[in-house]
Amino acid sequence: MKITLSVIKADIGSYVGHNKVHPELINIAKRELEKAEKKNEIIDYFVFACGDDLELLMSHKKPVENPKIHGLAWNIFTSCTKKAKEMKLYGAGQDMLKDTFSGNVKGMGPGVAEISFEERPSEPVVILAADKTSPGAWNIPLFRTFADPFTNPGLIISPVMNEGFTFEVQDVVENKSIKLKCPDEMYELLAFVGTPGRYVIKSITRNHDGLICAVTSTTRLSLIAGKYIGKDDPVCIVRAQHDLPDIGEITEPYAFPYLVEGWNRGSHTGPLMPVSLEDAMPTRFDGPPRVVALGFIVSNGNLIGPLDLFKDVSFDRARERANEIADYMRMHGPFQPHRLPEHDMEYTSMPQIMKKLKDRWGKI
Ligand SMILES: [Mg+2]
Repeated sequence: MKITLSVIKADIGSYVGHNKVHPELINIAKRELEKAEKKNEIIDYFVFACGDDLELLMSHKKPVENPKIHGLAWNIFTSCTKKAKEMKLYGAGQDMLKDTFSGNVKGMGPGVAEISFEERPSEPVVILAADKTSPGAWNIPLFRTFADPFTNPGLIISPVMNEGFTFEVQDVVENKSIKLKCPDEMYELLAFVGTPGRYVIKSITRNHDGLICAVTSTTRLSLIAGKYIGKDDPVCIVRAQHDLPDIGEITEPYAFPYLVEGWNRGSHTGPLMPVSLEDAMPTRFDGPPRVVALGFIVSNGNLIGPLDLFKDVSFDRARERANEIADYMRMHGPFQPHRLPEHDMEYTSMPQIMKKLKDRWGKI
């Protein structure tokens, strides 16, 4: 029996600014998913939030991109938007870019990561969600977990992992994708994914048998809407153990608070801070960007967990370093590299400024 995990997320309003999903909205989502579970539309669910993003994790027997599952999530976001508007929460319904549902939430605003598999004898998975960043934020950690032996010694030790992994990379500007096989094409892979604003790792499969190992959400709201809307905050599902990276090899890259795009107004670069669910509430300059990691065992579709993986004190130093890097980056104020490069501002606020001053520029 194939089980599908669907993580569908949206920012449909938060408080006080772009900081936290209100408990009322989380309750609506839980109530609706409870109903769906009772009606056997889904097997199990877990609702959580990372910053201003409401995250719905659902397990079910339907394939990926199923209209019923996507419709369920869309209806929940619609109900939450209604409540958010009633409460006058900030940015109510901001990720809902279309008025009517057409069978799939892709391209409509919410972010989606879905994976379908036959459960192994034990099926550990990690659900990652980040706030104040963009889909390419997973490029560094996924590369390090699945291609870098300094992070993942299993690549050397396990004969199965020794054969490497294949990365599907999407060009989110030109809407095309490519598959690159590691270790053979590692340098070509890095040539692309080093530009995380454009090239995003979409999925990873194991070379030994084609087993699907990881999937990410790749929606870029600004590219859909043609202007700055939200922060494209991404989610990711990674399967672990049994000739796949172990939990530690999945979490290890986050001990380094690498720089990501998306802090404050979606226009600044800052360190990605690994935090517990409780601390996924970015308020300093609306940041710094946060990431949470929840571990589950999938057992006949039931979700056993979560284990809040970044709650571990061994990530304290990463958080301290992230705060130091945040101080340093903030000192740059409106200058690059803290502020995003002009190319990225093209999709956000720059066109409005250019328009306002277009007649004021004279020849030199
Ligand atoms: Mg967000």
